[in-house]
Amino acid sequence: MKRKMAMDTLQFTSITELNLSEMVEFCASLEGPSYRGEQIFSWIYNKGATSFNQMSNIPVSFREQLAVKCRIFQTKMHIITASKDKTEKFLLRLPDNNFIECVLLRDGKRNTVCVSTQVGCAMDCKFCASGILGLKRSLNTGEIIEQILHIKNHLPSNEHITNIVFMGIGEPLANYENVIKALRIINADWGLGIGARNITISTVGVIDGIRRLSREGLKVNLAISLHAPNDAIRNIIVPSNKKTGLRNIIAVAREYFNATRRDICFEYTIIEGINDSKQDAKLLAQTLKGVQCNINILPLNPVKEYNLTPPSPEAVEAFCSILRNHGIVATVRQKKGNNVNAACGQLRLRIQKS
Ligand code: SAH
Repeated sequence: MKRKMAMDTLQFTSITELNLSEMVEFCASLEGPSYRGEQIFSWIYNKGATSFNQMSNIPVSFREQLAVKCRIFQTKMHIITASKDKTEKFLLRLPDNNFIECVLLRDGKRNTVCVSTQVGCAMDCKFCASGILGLKRSLNTGEIIEQILHIKNHLPSNEHITNIVFMGIGEPLANYENVIKALRIINADWGLGIGARNITISTVGVIDGIRRLSREGLKVNLAISLHAPNDAIRNIIVPSNKKTGLRNIIAVAREYFNATRRDICFEYTIIEGINDSKQDAKLLAQTLKGVQCNINILPLNPVKEYNLTPPSPEAVEAFCSILRNHGIVATVRQKKGNNVNAACGQLRLRIQKS
């Protein structure tokens, strides 16, 4: 049965895997004119078509050929859960029966989609649910794009996706090629048409990946998950730091700013008794001195498998005000979607474990 599915998967071309020139080439292989590629993309990315039958300006014979040779979606929506704050969480089934999650966050006029880039994660950060089952595999470009497409098609016609954050399951820069190709499709006029200023990549701090990204000419926002003011603490909660080291992360963050002129966002998951002392706040301010940045404080979202808790709201505020007194822009990220297991990797974990 599994083998049959894999065979089925192989014989189709998946449209969400293709950029425009590949789509044009594909249409040429079916002896269609070059403008067909753009027409098909417009149907999928603009008009929300989910089947070739809907593509009324494409000849029926060509639509039939498309239906035989390719498909629009390789993933299937499995569960949608909504929370009181209108956060919605989507669990998608992949062709190999793995699951990934993506989230829609609503904030005023902003509709942000949080996408996953891998099935699981190899980084093993000691508070994050995504790494508990380890890394199974990276997502292909289409599997990344389809998370956004499913949500776009789910939204009522008066609502639009305004922002994309790569903050779901997985380490985006450990899946570099597929993430960059997806970024270009998200950003392109012929694709989802979302501006680089409205796209954020969040990374644990993969040095080579950040450097490469700074040279892509894409100018997307970069968020770096710091979580500690020094190597002693970071080595414990973010094990990949033993190889990278804070100093190199700060250096490459400066490089990214110099190349893109985009302020760096440092994320700091604050955990009681681990990285939340006043001393930690002072040290953090010193570590980031002179870096063009802001800090996003994320109070820990407790994960059952770890015995960790967030500090009290007062302690979080005290931590922030020390940073602000040192001239750093610090904001506390409001928790969203808690009651739908929307914290990184939680919903998938519940499903894969059951
Ligand atoms: N691998 C990428 C994306 C991870 S998810 C990265 O490391 O940046 C986005 C953010 O959520 C990261 O900063 C991550 O450390 C944080 N996070 C993960 N689990 C969390 C939890 N239980 N509570 C609070 N923040 C969490």
